[in-house]
Amino acid sequence: MDLSIFMFDTIIIGAGPTGLTAAMYAARRMMKTLVISKDIGGQVILASDIKNYPGVELIKGFDLTNKMSQQVKALGVEIKIDEVKKITKNRDDSFLIETNSNSYSTKTIIIAMGLSPKQLNLAKENELTGRGISYCANCDGPLFKGKNVAVVGGGNTALDSAEVMSKIASKVYLIYRKAQLRAFEDFVLAVKNKSNVEIILNSEVYEIVGGSKLERLKIIDNISKISRELEVDGLFIEIGYQPKTEVVANLVETDSLGQVVVDLSGKTSREGIFAAGDVTQVEFKQIVIGCGQGAVAALSAYKYLQAKNGSA
Ligand SMILES: Cc1cc2nc3c(=O)[nH]c(=O)nc-3n(C[C@H](O)[C@H](O)[C@H](O)COP(=O)(O)OP(=O)(O)OC[C@H]3O[C@@H](n4cnc5c(N)ncnc54)[C@H](O)[C@@H]3O)c2cc1C
Repeated sequence: MDLSIFMFDTIIIGAGPTGLTAAMYAARRMMKTLVISKDIGGQVILASDIKNYPGVELIKGFDLTNKMSQQVKALGVEIKIDEVKKITKNRDDSFLIETNSNSYSTKTIIIAMGLSPKQLNLAKENELTGRGISYCANCDGPLFKGKNVAVVGGGNTALDSAEVMSKIASKVYLIYRKAQLRAFEDFVLAVKNKSNVEIILNSEVYEIVGGSKLERLKIIDNISKISRELEVDGLFIEIGYQPKTEVVANLVETDSLGQVVVDLSGKTSREGIFAAGDVTQVEFKQIVIGCGQGAVAALSAYKYLQAKNGSA
């Protein structure tokens, strides 16, 4: 069916847990709903073992994604695998969404485009992600019980990861490129008090070594220019996140990090556009939080349409 001739009640951009939950809620309110996403699952497909999804003791990211997308499809919502390239507001208050291959009209939009962890951009980084390299110590830390690991970064997330890993791993190297850590003082103290954490300042990883899994890191001291090799089973890259908001940046307010600014009901600065999950300024980026916000955004979009139609 050619969906480009349709006027949707809502189009959800992103099929991570946030977008899929929003789709579920929108469909259950009988809204004409479409999900457009580059992939199904978002960051969750990168998560090996999820142990903090309520009601489920342990589930693979892939399996949780499958369950969510099946639930959404069973409600009759189509998920188009495509990339949204441009969004414009029509004269009648609706929006035109242009993708790589099509264009769609909708009365409301739910932005659930998530974010990606920043990468070191080194060779082998992508290849060994999930094979020793992780961007989430809170998620993947337990896989490295009794092993040697490194954490890269000097902010709160990195220090929190180093502290978490000091209780799991036998040795933790905390590598930061600057002379001083930039995390809160109590985070820094907590890590400095750990006997199994070695803080390596002014240093950067310049090579990742491994075959089928991570084996070693080569690091360089930026001041002495002396190189050193660290034998590690795990590397946690905790250098921040990158929201994917270029496509909406001229439509809705974003903060200095590029995160979409929303109120408690998921409204953005633009009427008819809602946002939820990791793409927003929410402090904690987690699956259940995204799901909750996705539900809120869908219900708010429904309420907005009801008010517009005079049936609120
Ligand atoms: C390795 C790893 C392990 C994790 N483990 C856990 C865990 O155990 N427990 C937990 O609670 N959290 C965990 N997290 C965090 C959790 O995955 C995120 O909080 C959650 O996925 C956020 O959901 P989201 O839907 O908001 O965004 P995302 O999951 O980032 O999904 C965004 C979606 O939008 C799509 N998209 C982006 N831009 C466009 C565009 N222009 N056009 C079309 N589609 C677009 C993306 O392709 C993607 O499908 C983990 C994260 C990582 C990286």
